[in-house]
Amino acid sequence: MVSHSCKTNPKNIMQLNDKTIIVTGASKGLGVAIAETCAREGAAVALAARSEAKLAELRDRITGSGGRAIAVRCDVSCMADLRRLVEKTVAAYGAIHGLVNNAGVNFVKPFLTVTEEEWEHVIDVDLKGSFFLSQLCARQMIAQNTGGSIVQIASVHTHASVAGASPYDAAKHGMVGFSKAAAIELAKHRVRVNVLSPGLCRTEIWNALVAAAPSEAECTRYWNSNIPAERLVEPEEIAQACAFLLGDRSSCITGANLMADLGMTSQLVSGEPYKSKEIVGA
Ligand code: NAP
Repeated sequence: MVSHSCKTNPKNIMQLNDKTIIVTGASKGLGVAIAETCAREGAAVALAARSEAKLAELRDRITGSGGRAIAVRCDVSCMADLRRLVEKTVAAYGAIHGLVNNAGVNFVKPFLTVTEEEWEHVIDVDLKGSFFLSQLCARQMIAQNTGGSIVQIASVHTHASVAGASPYDAAKHGMVGFSKAAAIELAKHRVRVNVLSPGLCRTEIWNALVAAAPSEAECTRYWNSNIPAERLVEPEEIAQACAFLLGDRSSCITGANLMADLGMTSQLVSGEPYKSKEIVGA
Protein backbone atom coordinates (compact mmCIF):
# COMPACT_ATOMS: atom_id res chain seq x y z
CA MET A 1 0.00 0.00 0.00
CA VAL A 2 1.19 3.54 -0.78
CA SER A 3 1.65 5.79 2.26
CA HIS A 4 -0.37 9.01 2.23
CA SER A 5 1.95 11.27 4.20
CA CYS A 6 2.27 14.67 2.50
CA LYS A 7 5.71 15.13 4.07
CA THR A 8 7.43 12.30 2.28
CA ASN A 9 8.24 12.08 -1.39
CA PRO A 10 11.33 9.88 -1.66
CA LYS A 11 12.93 11.62 -4.65
CA ASN A 12 11.44 15.01 -3.81
CA ILE A 13 10.09 15.34 -7.34
CA MET A 14 6.72 17.04 -7.02
CA GLN A 15 4.59 16.56 -10.14
CA LEU A 16 1.99 19.16 -9.10
CA ASN A 17 3.97 21.89 -7.35
CA ASP A 18 2.31 25.33 -7.38
CA LYS A 19 -0.91 23.94 -8.84
CA THR A 20 -4.40 24.28 -7.39
CA ILE A 21 -6.65 21.31 -8.07
CA ILE A 22 -10.35 20.73 -7.38
CA VAL A 23 -11.32 17.12 -6.59
CA THR A 24 -15.03 16.25 -6.46
CA GLY A 25 -16.30 13.23 -4.57
CA ALA A 26 -13.44 13.72 -2.12
CA SER A 27 -15.35 12.40 0.91
CA LYS A 28 -14.56 8.71 0.27
CA GLY A 29 -13.24 6.10 -2.13
CA LEU A 30 -11.16 7.14 -5.12
CA GLY A 31 -11.62 10.85 -4.39
CA VAL A 32 -9.78 10.59 -1.06
CA ALA A 33 -6.82 8.79 -2.66
CA ILE A 34 -6.74 11.30 -5.56
CA ALA A 35 -6.83 14.32 -3.24
CA GLU A 36 -4.14 12.93 -0.94
CA THR A 37 -1.87 12.09 -3.86
CA CYS A 38 -2.34 15.55 -5.40
CA ALA A 39 -1.48 17.16 -2.05
CA ARG A 40 1.55 14.91 -1.61
CA GLU A 41 2.67 15.95 -5.11
CA GLY A 42 2.66 19.61 -4.06
CA ALA A 43 -0.82 20.81 -5.09
CA ALA A 44 -3.24 22.88 -3.03
CA VAL A 45 -6.48 20.89 -3.15
CA ALA A 46 -10.13 21.97 -2.94
CA LEU A 47 -12.09 19.00 -1.60
CA ALA A 48 -15.73 18.87 -2.73
CA ALA A 49 -18.64 16.59 -1.79
CA ARG A 50 -21.83 16.73 0.30
CA SER A 51 -20.50 15.06 3.49
CA GLU A 52 -18.96 18.02 5.32
CA ALA A 53 -17.62 16.04 8.28
CA LYS A 54 -15.68 13.64 6.05
CA LEU A 55 -14.30 16.51 3.97
CA ALA A 56 -13.17 18.32 7.13
CA GLU A 57 -11.46 15.14 8.36
CA LEU A 58 -9.53 14.79 5.09
CA ARG A 59 -8.66 18.52 5.00
CA ASP A 60 -7.26 18.26 8.53
CA ARG A 61 -5.26 15.14 7.67
CA ILE A 62 -3.71 16.86 4.63
CA THR A 63 -2.95 20.17 6.36
CA GLY A 64 -1.74 18.27 9.45
CA SER A 65 0.96 16.62 7.37
CA GLY A 66 2.14 19.83 5.71
CA GLY A 67 -0.19 19.96 2.70
CA ARG A 68 -2.67 22.64 1.59
CA ALA A 69 -6.41 21.93 1.43
CA ILE A 70 -9.83 23.52 1.79
CA ALA A 71 -13.15 21.70 2.16
CA VAL A 72 -16.19 22.97 0.26
CA ARG A 73 -19.64 21.43 0.63
CA CYS A 74 -20.92 20.94 -2.91
CA ASP A 75 -23.70 19.00 -4.57
CA VAL A 76 -22.32 18.70 -8.10
CA SER A 77 -25.82 18.51 -9.59
CA CYS A 78 -26.51 22.07 -8.33
CA MET A 79 -25.22 24.91 -10.51
CA ALA A 80 -25.09 27.38 -7.61
CA ASP A 81 -22.90 24.94 -5.64
CA LEU A 82 -20.53 24.55 -8.61
CA ARG A 83 -20.13 28.32 -8.95
CA ARG A 84 -19.52 28.60 -5.20
CA LEU A 85 -16.87 25.85 -5.36
CA VAL A 86 -14.96 27.70 -8.08
CA GLU A 87 -15.28 31.05 -6.27
CA LYS A 88 -14.08 29.61 -2.93
CA THR A 89 -11.13 27.87 -4.59
CA VAL A 90 -10.02 31.06 -6.38
CA ALA A 91 -10.53 33.09 -3.20
CA ALA A 92 -8.32 30.66 -1.25
CA TYR A 93 -5.53 30.05 -3.78
CA GLY A 94 -5.90 32.69 -6.52
CA ALA A 95 -6.16 30.27 -9.45
CA ILE A 96 -7.31 26.83 -10.65
CA HIS A 97 -4.91 24.63 -12.64
CA GLY A 98 -6.59 21.25 -12.38
CA LEU A 99 -10.00 19.66 -11.96
CA VAL A 100 -10.86 16.04 -11.23
CA ASN A 101 -14.54 15.26 -11.85
CA ASN A 102 -14.68 12.14 -9.69
CA ALA A 103 -18.09 12.42 -7.95
CA GLY A 104 -20.37 9.71 -9.27
CA VAL A 105 -23.44 7.63 -8.53
CA ASN A 106 -24.78 4.39 -9.97
CA PHE A 107 -27.47 1.80 -9.30
CA VAL A 108 -28.33 -1.57 -10.78
CA LYS A 109 -31.77 -1.86 -12.35
CA PRO A 110 -33.08 -3.33 -15.61
CA PHE A 111 -33.33 -0.90 -18.55
CA LEU A 112 -37.08 -1.63 -18.89
CA THR A 113 -37.83 -0.41 -15.36
CA VAL A 114 -35.65 2.73 -14.99
CA THR A 115 -37.77 5.76 -14.02
CA GLU A 116 -37.36 9.37 -15.11
CA GLU A 117 -36.26 10.36 -11.57
CA GLU A 118 -33.59 7.65 -11.47
CA TRP A 119 -32.31 8.64 -14.92
CA GLU A 120 -32.17 12.33 -13.97
CA HIS A 121 -30.31 11.65 -10.72
CA VAL A 122 -27.49 9.73 -12.41
CA ILE A 123 -27.30 12.11 -15.39
CA ASP A 124 -27.35 15.20 -13.15
CA VAL A 125 -24.52 14.01 -10.90
CA ASP A 126 -22.31 12.08 -13.32
CA LEU A 127 -22.78 14.06 -16.55
CA LYS A 128 -24.29 17.49 -15.93
CA GLY A 129 -22.09 18.09 -12.90
CA SER A 130 -18.87 17.19 -14.70
CA PHE A 131 -19.90 19.15 -17.82
CA PHE A 132 -20.63 22.43 -16.07
CA LEU A 133 -17.78 22.22 -13.56
CA SER A 134 -15.42 21.61 -16.51
CA GLN A 135 -16.90 24.68 -18.21
CA LEU A 136 -16.53 26.90 -15.13
CA CYS A 137 -12.95 25.75 -14.47
CA ALA A 138 -11.95 26.08 -18.14
CA ARG A 139 -13.23 29.68 -18.16
CA GLN A 140 -11.12 30.39 -15.08
CA MET A 141 -8.02 28.71 -16.61
CA ILE A 142 -8.41 30.77 -19.80
CA ALA A 143 -8.87 34.00 -17.82
CA GLN A 144 -5.68 33.22 -15.85
CA ASN A 145 -3.82 32.42 -19.10
CA THR A 146 -2.08 29.55 -17.34
CA GLY A 147 -3.50 26.56 -19.17
CA GLY A 148 -4.76 23.64 -17.11
CA SER A 149 -5.74 20.00 -17.00
CA ILE A 150 -9.22 18.54 -16.53
CA VAL A 151 -9.61 14.83 -15.75
CA GLN A 152 -12.96 13.06 -15.87
CA ILE A 153 -13.15 9.86 -13.83
CA ALA A 154 -15.39 7.75 -16.08
CA SER A 155 -15.35 3.94 -16.15
CA VAL A 156 -14.76 0.79 -18.17
CA HIS A 157 -18.47 1.32 -18.88
CA THR A 158 -17.27 3.78 -21.57
CA HIS A 159 -16.07 0.69 -23.43
CA ALA A 160 -18.75 -1.94 -22.75
CA SER A 161 -21.59 -2.58 -20.34
CA VAL A 162 -23.00 -5.02 -17.83
CA ALA A 163 -26.74 -5.53 -17.47
CA GLY A 164 -28.56 -3.06 -15.23
CA ALA A 165 -26.39 0.04 -15.65
CA SER A 166 -28.04 1.89 -18.54
CA PRO A 167 -28.22 5.46 -17.09
CA TYR A 168 -24.64 5.13 -15.76
CA ASP A 169 -23.48 3.91 -19.18
CA ALA A 170 -25.19 6.88 -20.86
CA ALA A 171 -23.62 9.32 -18.41
CA LYS A 172 -20.12 7.89 -18.65
CA HIS A 173 -20.24 7.74 -22.47
CA GLY A 174 -21.47 11.34 -22.35
CA MET A 175 -18.40 12.34 -20.33
CA VAL A 176 -16.17 10.96 -23.08
CA GLY A 177 -18.19 12.75 -25.76
CA PHE A 178 -18.15 16.25 -24.30
CA SER A 179 -14.53 15.84 -23.20
CA LYS A 180 -13.40 15.26 -26.78
CA ALA A 181 -15.31 18.36 -27.91
CA ALA A 182 -13.87 20.42 -25.04
CA ALA A 183 -10.35 19.06 -25.69
CA ILE A 184 -10.31 20.31 -29.27
CA GLU A 185 -11.94 23.65 -28.44
CA LEU A 186 -9.66 24.36 -25.47
CA ALA A 187 -6.35 23.09 -26.90
CA LYS A 188 -5.34 26.54 -28.17
CA HIS A 189 -5.73 27.84 -24.60
CA ARG A 190 -3.41 25.07 -23.28
CA VAL A 191 -6.31 23.54 -21.35
CA ARG A 192 -6.23 19.75 -21.68
CA VAL A 193 -9.24 17.49 -21.12
CA ASN A 194 -8.83 13.75 -20.61
CA VAL A 195 -10.88 10.83 -19.35
CA LEU A 196 -9.52 8.24 -16.92
CA SER A 197 -11.59 5.04 -16.94
CA PRO A 198 -11.04 2.75 -13.95
CA GLY A 199 -11.79 -0.94 -13.85
CA LEU A 200 -13.07 -2.57 -10.67
CA CYS A 201 -11.48 -0.77 -7.70
CA ARG A 202 -11.23 -1.58 -4.01
CA THR A 203 -13.80 0.98 -2.76
CA GLU A 204 -17.31 0.64 -1.30
CA ILE A 205 -18.52 -0.88 -4.57
CA TRP A 206 -16.30 -3.87 -3.84
CA ASN A 207 -17.81 -4.24 -0.35
CA ALA A 208 -21.28 -4.19 -1.96
CA LEU A 209 -20.28 -6.89 -4.45
CA VAL A 210 -18.88 -9.05 -1.65
CA ALA A 211 -22.05 -8.56 0.42
CA ALA A 212 -24.15 -9.79 -2.50
CA ALA A 213 -21.92 -12.84 -3.18
CA PRO A 214 -22.05 -16.27 -1.45
CA SER A 215 -18.64 -15.47 0.10
CA GLU A 216 -15.70 -13.07 -0.35
CA ALA A 217 -13.60 -15.95 -1.76
CA GLU A 218 -16.28 -16.77 -4.35
CA CYS A 219 -16.63 -13.09 -5.26
CA THR A 220 -12.84 -12.74 -5.64
CA ARG A 221 -12.62 -15.90 -7.76
CA TYR A 222 -15.36 -14.70 -10.10
CA TRP A 223 -13.97 -11.20 -10.61
CA ASN A 224 -10.37 -12.37 -10.92
CA SER A 225 -11.49 -14.68 -13.74
CA ASN A 226 -12.73 -11.56 -15.58
CA ILE A 227 -9.64 -9.41 -14.98
CA PRO A 228 -6.43 -10.44 -16.81
CA ALA A 229 -4.22 -9.26 -13.92
CA GLU A 230 -6.42 -11.30 -11.53
CA ARG A 231 -6.79 -8.55 -8.94
CA LEU A 232 -8.64 -5.32 -8.16
CA VAL A 233 -7.32 -1.85 -8.99
CA GLU A 234 -6.17 -0.09 -5.81
CA PRO A 235 -7.41 3.52 -5.30
CA GLU A 236 -3.77 4.67 -5.05
CA GLU A 237 -3.15 3.37 -8.58
CA ILE A 238 -5.99 5.49 -9.97
CA ALA A 239 -4.63 8.45 -8.01
CA GLN A 240 -1.17 8.03 -9.58
CA ALA A 241 -2.63 7.86 -13.11
CA CYS A 242 -4.73 10.93 -12.32
CA ALA A 243 -1.69 12.88 -11.04
CA PHE A 244 0.09 12.01 -14.29
CA LEU A 245 -2.79 13.43 -16.36
CA LEU A 246 -2.96 16.54 -14.16
CA GLY A 247 0.75 17.23 -14.34
CA ASP A 248 3.07 18.55 -17.03
CA ARG A 249 4.49 15.09 -17.81
CA SER A 250 1.34 14.43 -19.87
CA SER A 251 1.58 17.78 -21.70
CA CYS A 252 0.93 16.28 -25.17
CA ILE A 253 -2.10 14.23 -24.09
CA THR A 254 -5.59 15.65 -24.58
CA GLY A 255 -8.89 14.14 -25.70
CA ALA A 256 -7.80 10.67 -24.53
CA ASN A 257 -9.76 8.01 -22.66
CA LEU A 258 -7.17 6.09 -20.64
CA MET A 259 -8.30 2.65 -19.46
CA ALA A 260 -6.97 1.97 -15.94
CA ASP A 261 -8.47 -1.51 -15.79
CA LEU A 262 -5.71 -4.14 -15.53
CA GLY A 263 -6.59 -5.38 -19.02
CA MET A 264 -10.31 -5.90 -18.38
CA THR A 265 -11.55 -4.18 -21.56
CA SER A 266 -8.83 -5.65 -23.79
CA GLN A 267 -10.09 -9.21 -23.72
CA LEU A 268 -12.99 -10.53 -25.79
CA VAL A 269 -13.86 -13.48 -23.56
CA SER A 270 -12.68 -14.79 -20.21
CA GLY A 271 -12.94 -17.91 -18.09
CA GLU A 272 -12.43 -20.49 -20.84
CA PRO A 273 -13.71 -23.91 -19.70
CA TYR A 274 -10.89 -25.75 -21.52
CA LYS A 275 -7.34 -24.99 -22.64
CA SER A 276 -7.07 -23.06 -25.93
CA LYS A 277 -5.86 -25.18 -28.82
CA GLU A 278 -3.17 -23.67 -31.03
CA ILE A 279 -5.01 -22.63 -34.16
CA VAL A 280 -2.82 -22.37 -37.27
CA GLY A 281 -3.95 -20.33 -40.28
CA ALA A 282 -7.31 -20.80 -42.00
P1 NAP B 1 -17.90 6.14 -3.89
O1 NAP B 1 -17.03 5.47 -2.89
O2 NAP B 1 -19.34 5.77 -3.97
O3 NAP B 1 -17.79 7.72 -3.69
C1 NAP B 1 -18.56 8.56 -4.50
C2 NAP B 1 -18.20 10.00 -4.19
O4 NAP B 1 -19.06 10.84 -4.97
C3 NAP B 1 -18.40 10.35 -2.73
O5 NAP B 1 -17.36 11.17 -2.29
C4 NAP B 1 -19.72 11.12 -2.74
O6 NAP B 1 -19.70 12.11 -1.71
C5 NAP B 1 -19.64 11.80 -4.11
N1 NAP B 1 -20.96 12.23 -4.59
C6 NAP B 1 -22.04 11.46 -4.86
N2 NAP B 1 -23.08 12.24 -5.21
C7 NAP B 1 -22.63 13.52 -5.15
C8 NAP B 1 -23.22 14.78 -5.40
N3 NAP B 1 -24.51 14.89 -5.79
N4 NAP B 1 -22.47 15.89 -5.24
C9 NAP B 1 -21.19 15.79 -4.86
N5 NAP B 1 -20.56 14.64 -4.61
C10 NAP B 1 -21.28 13.52 -4.76
O7 NAP B 1 -17.32 5.94 -5.38
P2 NAP B 1 -15.88 5.45 -5.88
O8 NAP B 1 -15.92 3.98 -5.96
O9 NAP B 1 -14.82 6.13 -5.12
O10 NAP B 1 -15.93 6.00 -7.38
C11 NAP B 1 -15.51 7.31 -7.70
C12 NAP B 1 -15.71 7.55 -9.20
O11 NAP B 1 -15.06 6.52 -9.93
C13 NAP B 1 -17.18 7.51 -9.63
O12 NAP B 1 -17.38 8.49 -10.62
C14 NAP B 1 -17.34 6.12 -10.24
O13 NAP B 1 -18.33 6.06 -11.23
C15 NAP B 1 -15.96 5.91 -10.82
N6 NAP B 1 -15.60 4.49 -10.95
C16 NAP B 1 -15.45 3.70 -9.83
C17 NAP B 1 -15.11 2.37 -10.00
C18 NAP B 1 -14.91 1.46 -8.81
O14 NAP B 1 -14.73 0.23 -9.00
N7 NAP B 1 -14.92 1.97 -7.59
C19 NAP B 1 -14.92 1.82 -11.28
C20 NAP B 1 -15.09 2.66 -12.37
C21 NAP B 1 -15.43 3.98 -12.21
P3 NAP B 1 -20.95 12.56 -0.83
O15 NAP B 1 -21.87 11.39 -0.69
O16 NAP B 1 -20.32 13.02 0.44
O17 NAP B 1 -21.56 13.70 -1.61
